[in-house]
Amino acid sequence: MTGIDAIAELFAGPGARDYLGEAVTIGEHMRQAGALAEAAGADPPLVAAALLHDIGHLRSETDRKHGDAGARWLSRWFGPAVTEPVRLHVAAKRYLCATEPGYVGRLSPESVRTLALQGGPMTAEQAAAFEAGPYARDAVAVRRWDDEAKDPAVIPPGFARFESLLSALLEPGLPRSPACGTTR
Ligand code: FE
Repeated sequence: MTGIDAIAELFAGPGARDYLGEAVTIGEHMRQAGALAEAAGADPPLVAAALLHDIGHLRSETDRKHGDAGARWLSRWFGPAVTEPVRLHVAAKRYLCATEPGYVGRLSPESVRTLALQGGPMTAEQAAAFEAGPYARDAVAVRRWDDEAKDPAVIPPGFARFESLLSALLEPGLPRSPACGTTR
């Protein structure tokens, strides 16, 4: 099974039909986020990161761990331009809560609820350290599409629409099969 097959299977599976407290299913939410990134003209790795940011949820990870675990799983096939914004999208929420007036007020009720489980808003020191990281800007971009991608009136493209974009991003040096994949 290729990485694309493994990801397609998750998007087609029962986990993708869960609502997780939002107005859209997690699969719809992720496809909406990918479509928003694409519409914004984001580079392909960032479109992939937006599409895949909650892949940890499709693999039944907790609210607190889903960024890290999702990025680790994706690193079998994709480089840091895809995996780092995924890993950091929860931190980006904590960062924006600390640094952007009014941001918390625009979060969905479920996202406010999980904020506490995720460590709450960053301290000033944590925010400065986050900002200094090479993928902070990309993680914040993913986070904004994440927040926007919860509209029940929007019908997002199917997963197949993103397959060629994802295929072009597969790292040739990395193992393609989840069975033999090790994390980097
Ligand atoms: Fe999300």
